[in-house]
Amino acid sequence: MPAQLSDPITMVAKRAGDVQIHTFVSSFTSDNIANATHIIETRNQLVLVDAQFLAPYARAFRDYADGLGKPIDRLYVSHRHPDHWFGLGTAFSDVTIYALPETVSFIQEHGEDSVSDHWKLGDLAPGDVVVPQKIVSPGEETIDGVRYVFEQVEEAEIDFQLTIGLPDLGVCFAQDLIYSGTHLYLTKQMGHWIRVLQEMLVADYELFMPGHGLPADKNEVARNIEYLLAAQQASGEGLTNDAFKAFMLQRYPERKCPGIFDIYLPRLFGGASDY
Ligand SMILES: [Zn+2]
Repeated sequence: MPAQLSDPITMVAKRAGDVQIHTFVSSFTSDNIANATHIIETRNQLVLVDAQFLAPYARAFRDYADGLGKPIDRLYVSHRHPDHWFGLGTAFSDVTIYALPETVSFIQEHGEDSVSDHWKLGDLAPGDVVVPQKIVSPGEETIDGVRYVFEQVEEAEIDFQLTIGLPDLGVCFAQDLIYSGTHLYLTKQMGHWIRVLQEMLVADYELFMPGHGLPADKNEVARNIEYLLAAQQASGEGLTNDAFKAFMLQRYPERKCPGIFDIYLPRLFGGASDY
């Protein structure tokens, strides 16, 4: 790993029969934002969720998957924020990739621009843009003996996001609806985001795989709601930009990855586009 990066954290988050849920989390330090990507290992194959952001982590995630000794059947991209799909071009160009139609068309139309906009990353950015080839639709599907439930969540952390539930295992891949132990990427849709999380609190799932940070339980989902409520109140009282950031840092000193403020503040309070 280059100097400003550190080793990822990998773990088996759940084991049930011949199914294992693996998670791979990039660095929590410096400007990194603890990107969390996951693997559903079943009897014969692997299903991956998201592709990492920076090239060294994408390659290390691929190495981890290959080390399990089973073929990668497919990879699901949760949404169009670059920290979830940049790694496709680094390490997953040979894999069948699924995403929501809105995510596919965004990467198709704006993928190259998005990579150029991140020129400061140098060789941490992907050399190529890989566009998902397959569309995932809301509904149920059984893959290698495991039941999957796909849902589309609109207007929360992003306009369109895919969630993946494994109801028989009690596991929900919530990705960026949950920031586990890290500061959230806030948008103007906090009210709806809170309602989505409230539904999770009464759902049958027990283990929530986030897009950032370590695997979460319902307490962490509730803490995300509380964070969003505090942010809504602070902005309602007129705090913006640096004052807003100082308030949130002071209120949540235990949360990691403050680098995320500088990414979203211009969008939340300035004229930059919402997402
Ligand atoms: Zn993200």
